[in-house]
Amino acid sequence: MKADFDKQYILKVLKDILAVDSPAGFTKNVVEKLVEYVKEIGFPYEITNKGNLIVSVPGESDKTIGLAAHVDTLGLIVRGLKSDGSLSFMKVGGAILNTLDGEYCNIYTRCGKKYTGTILSNSPAGHVFMDAHTLARDEDNMHIRLDEKVNSKEDVQKLGINSGDFICYEPKTVITDSGFIKSRFLDDKLSVAILIGVMKYIKDEGIKINHNLKMIFPCHEEVGHGMSCMPEEISEIIAVDMGCIGLDLNCSEYDVSICAKDSSGPYDYELVTRLANLAKDNNLSYAVDIYPRYGSDISAALRAGYDIKGCVIGPGVAASHGMERTHIESVENTFKLIVLYLTR
Ligand SMILES: [Zn+2]
Repeated sequence: MKADFDKQYILKVLKDILAVDSPAGFTKNVVEKLVEYVKEIGFPYEITNKGNLIVSVPGESDKTIGLAAHVDTLGLIVRGLKSDGSLSFMKVGGAILNTLDGEYCNIYTRCGKKYTGTILSNSPAGHVFMDAHTLARDEDNMHIRLDEKVNSKEDVQKLGINSGDFICYEPKTVITDSGFIKSRFLDDKLSVAILIGVMKYIKDEGIKINHNLKMIFPCHEEVGHGMSCMPEEISEIIAVDMGCIGLDLNCSEYDVSICAKDSSGPYDYELVTRLANLAKDNNLSYAVDIYPRYGSDISAALRAGYDIKGCVIGPGVAASHGMERTHIESVENTFKLIVLYLTR
């Protein structure tokens, strides 16, 4: 590779986009933030009707390939206003609710106001409730406590809060001196930051890539249909999304993970093999795995009927959809595998 992997730039992009709330269905602000970076780098882009950002990078052949990383995250949405002035909620995507008990959140109304609150169980006081420790943390047994003087449904209505308003909880991003990246929503904003890093690397270093490239940033992956539409000319595409860790899986927080099969079935045999060989031949730290409970934007594209070769690679992320963590080494291995894929 011509230049070193620019760790500082990728971490800057990461922190910047993690700071913008963006659950599936509420992603306009984060896409605007990404557009600022894309304009600065200087490749042409478009935003599709459903909100996906697509950046075009010219290559050396007539073939068009794709890289995708979803910019939407998990979140919650207001289900109802309760008689005590709290809010009931539904999940957007598949958060582990136990990990949300006690988390701070923002509530965005459709009239443009933003309020703060806390996600709590319905038996939140240890000194009062017999089942404070044991009550199941699920949608029926949890609520949002608003940081406003409200005691009734009417009080909450007066604030402009209604059913269908988005509730976004804090990412709590911390990057340690030892290289660990701790945050919610590393799935998949870390991969988004890596792709922006690759884009900048191609531009700054004048890297010649083999094929025309569409970099796609879908906005509905967490609800299953992010890449159900994409440019027709793409014949081969890799979703860069978090790699799974746990049980008998091979991946660690230091590796780039290559997914051979997830819940939606096996990925393209030739493409998975090519990527595994590229990683091996270039001494990257990598793991080929199956993900037992996982679907991706490639699954969405295949189900939508696209005739593509596709697979998933990405940095190994621990405690996914909970309090996630990875290490900068997995970012470096993922970055390098992508650049090798584009140039070999
Ligand atoms: Zn993901």
